[in-house]
Amino acid sequence: MKKIILGLLLISLAFMFTGCAPQDNKKNEADVLIVGGGGAGLVAAIEAAKTGKKVILVEKMPALGGNTIISATGITASDTIYHQESGISFTKEDHYQRTMTTSKNLANGDLVRILVDESASAVLWLKELGVNLKVRSEAEPFWLVPVEGHYGAQLVAAYIQEANKYSNLEIRLNTKANKLIVENGVVVGAEVTDNDGTYNISSKAVVLATGGLNNNPEMIAYYNAKYANIHTQMTTPGATGDGITMALEVNAELVDMEFFQVRPLSSNGNWYHERIISTEDLSGILINKEGVRFTNETAAPRTVASEILKQSDALAYIIFDQRVYDAHADAKKAFTIGRGEKADTLAALAALIGVDAATLEATVTSYNEGEDAFNRTALGKVIEGPFYAVKTLPSNHYTMGGLKVNELAQVINKSGQVIPGLYAAGEVMGGLYGDGRVAGNNTLDDIVFGKIAGFNAAQ
Ligand code: ADP
Repeated sequence: MKKIILGLLLISLAFMFTGCAPQDNKKNEADVLIVGGGGAGLVAAIEAAKTGKKVILVEKMPALGGNTIISATGITASDTIYHQESGISFTKEDHYQRTMTTSKNLANGDLVRILVDESASAVLWLKELGVNLKVRSEAEPFWLVPVEGHYGAQLVAAYIQEANKYSNLEIRLNTKANKLIVENGVVVGAEVTDNDGTYNISSKAVVLATGGLNNNPEMIAYYNAKYANIHTQMTTPGATGDGITMALEVNAELVDMEFFQVRPLSSNGNWYHERIISTEDLSGILINKEGVRFTNETAAPRTVASEILKQSDALAYIIFDQRVYDAHADAKKAFTIGRGEKADTLAALAALIGVDAATLEATVTSYNEGEDAFNRTALGKVIEGPFYAVKTLPSNHYTMGGLKVNELAQVINKSGQVIPGLYAAGEVMGGLYGDGRVAGNNTLDDIVFGKIAGFNAAQ
């Protein structure tokens, strides 16, 4: 159902964009070509259009929005008007430290400093566009969440409305960039394909805003073999790493490509918090299709994810009891959204999911007796029926690494030099997250580096 609603949303947002006139073959020239119409691409396009220059944005999907449109919670920002109004403090220094620490100090401090310094004005800009936010809570002061409605959908709708104001900005949907055009070492456009064929768009600069790799399992496995066979439950279709592929062809440098924010508990477009399998005495276990446990469920989420990916069909079942269902909102969410099974006995549950009943009963009995071959110390018990089973397909949530850029969002090559004419922003860009991302920094970076890329590309 969620996918159907999302589909309708995407289609209606596509139609909101009245300026997406069919491509005119005689007008394939622009000052700035933006590749990708998610958050970063739309912001870059607006910023470039503000300078009065001619801007073309190409989006390969039939609708704008990318993975930005499925951003569920909100934005991370510091020292904003909302912090002042609420009296709840989250300072720039808190923001900087949190971002660096979460990245395990692998993020580029200069880029993070820009992200943090520009966050309050990014939030003010969103307010100007009609996106009203509030501090989520004293416990999570970094989160700014919408006053009402779905965050990502509002964000993309606001960007589209703003983009519509510029007659010098043309958006071409169903138009995929295939490769960059380089003349004398300068990027001067891209070859694109739409429903009518393949043609070149020439430009003085190109901004890559093509998002991450979430929908390209082979590419994820190439950069980190632990995630071979990863599923694609948490992405829109366009996130296939095209910007990385195109930039590599012009000798771009990559950073932190081995790092992904992978979630072990995921299905039907959602992820479920790992506390369902890791809370002391109030959590379930993971079994494979053969009905046996195979990992310490309380290990780091990405470790659990890669252990699941080694099992038959790269999947597992979360098995939990009524106490866990009652204790955790995410257990209820997993059961409902993940279309779980429920039965009064473990044997009946095993039959529902096609697992051998005797094996499942033996697995649970041994776990309940405190035996653990995987060094799990927070042992709970799966004792109180009814019992629940939810299938989980580990999936990537966010691509941490990407193209190496400088403070002007210019893409850097493998010799450490700027690639003239080439800019990047958003998830395709690396340097901000290292080995861990503060949730909500990503839609912030779309704005901050989208603006930097769009502005500089238009100079
Ligand atoms: P970000 O948050 O970085 O903007 P998104 O996932 O929201 O990332 O948006 C990236 C957008 O780029 C998606 O809408 C995707 O379909 C689009 N895209 C990816 N590759 C191409 C390509 N080769 N040509 C045109 N658009 C592309």
